[in-house]
Amino acid sequence: MFSSLARCSSRAALHMLKEAVCPSKLGKVPSFGHQTLAAIPAHTVGRNAIRHAQMLEQKRLLQVEWDDGSCSFYPFTWLRDNCHCPLCMLQSAQARSLLLADLNVHTGMNQVQITDNNKVSITWPDEHSSEFEPDWLKKRCFSPEARQARQEELFLNKREFWDSALQIPMADFEEVLNDDNAALAWLMALRRVGIVYLKGAPAEQGQLARLGRRIGYLRLTFYGHTWQVQDKPMANNVAYTSGKLSLHTDYPALHHPPGVQFLHCLQQAEQGGESEVVDGFHMAELLRKEDPEAFNTLSSLYIDYTDTGSDYCDFSVQSKNRIIDVDSEGRVMRVNYNNATRDSVLDLPIDQVQLFYSSLKSFVKLMNRPENMVTYRMEPGDLVTFDNWRLLHGRRHYASGGRTLRHLEGAYLDWDEVMSRLRILRKAVHRDR
Ligand SMILES: [Zn+2]
Repeated sequence: MFSSLARCSSRAALHMLKEAVCPSKLGKVPSFGHQTLAAIPAHTVGRNAIRHAQMLEQKRLLQVEWDDGSCSFYPFTWLRDNCHCPLCMLQSAQARSLLLADLNVHTGMNQVQITDNNKVSITWPDEHSSEFEPDWLKKRCFSPEARQARQEELFLNKREFWDSALQIPMADFEEVLNDDNAALAWLMALRRVGIVYLKGAPAEQGQLARLGRRIGYLRLTFYGHTWQVQDKPMANNVAYTSGKLSLHTDYPALHHPPGVQFLHCLQQAEQGGESEVVDGFHMAELLRKEDPEAFNTLSSLYIDYTDTGSDYCDFSVQSKNRIIDVDSEGRVMRVNYNNATRDSVLDLPIDQVQLFYSSLKSFVKLMNRPENMVTYRMEPGDLVTFDNWRLLHGRRHYASGGRTLRHLEGAYLDWDEVMSRLRILRKAVHRDR
């Protein structure tokens, strides 16, 4: 019945991941310390040539005309603020040393010229001078299109929505550790699709720590550096039982829930224990379309979450999160939903309580529709990596107390660290950015 896993373990799915990046071969990882393996090129080949540059004194803008006839505009103040000279920038840190106290935010411009090597050279009224490379300027063009393209390159916010027809992208665990192309393809798919399956990890504890070092480091929480999902007596979390876990995100009791989750199967139950996942961003957009009032309610009301107990140390955590977290422009940024840790303290005006429950019910019904859910069964050695800000995941009930004890090891990371590694890998692999 678990056709998703069958699909995800197909060679076609694996192939898909490998095709995501250019196939140039890079060196192998040393035994540890690994991160990004190839050296990042010190010099990149310039592609943009400047035909002409002139001051627009009235508007206090520099106009740059490119070889293809297009133009970009740069404010005087911004150019002065971003001077690269050794007085204005600490070269070793690539960080600004010019103080805002010393920046004249109404500066004029004395002179502009194009140098022999096609840089823009500016002289300021105080005789300070600055030089700017064409590629550097082009990347920072202020046109809405250029800004949007640059933001997409930095944050990869475009996502591929999916439903039950998803073929979960798959990669080989050791390849991801040992090959920059494979690691980049893994992280790109993790960002775009939200879930990637890694096959072939040894079925023993400690593999998530290795994978965490490939990125940088794991995120420590009150459940430890990594945590063991097992049926435990006096469980301090509903995950540590054999019961069904309904679709949820992990740790909305934190104001900054972990961005990425790793789960590694060490032992599977003889019966049951299948995993379920749904694309929370897709579900939120469906809700916005099908039940706008529910969407507005869940994206505006702050709900209390609580988590109390003892594990890595004792804890008493409280948070207020919107179940559908949107940015200032209404784009869905994060889903925060875990029914187990949703607090009985409900800080809402009494006349909004029923609206809240009806809205949540509408959202949960949507995500439980069979056409939206992907089901798979992890086998020992399998490792799943997914976007915990986006996916909701669950588990079916399993029979406990048989010959084998179901055991998953879990770990968290944050998106800042994962995206950092992705950008460095992209630079190393593509050698041109
Ligand atoms: Zn300077």
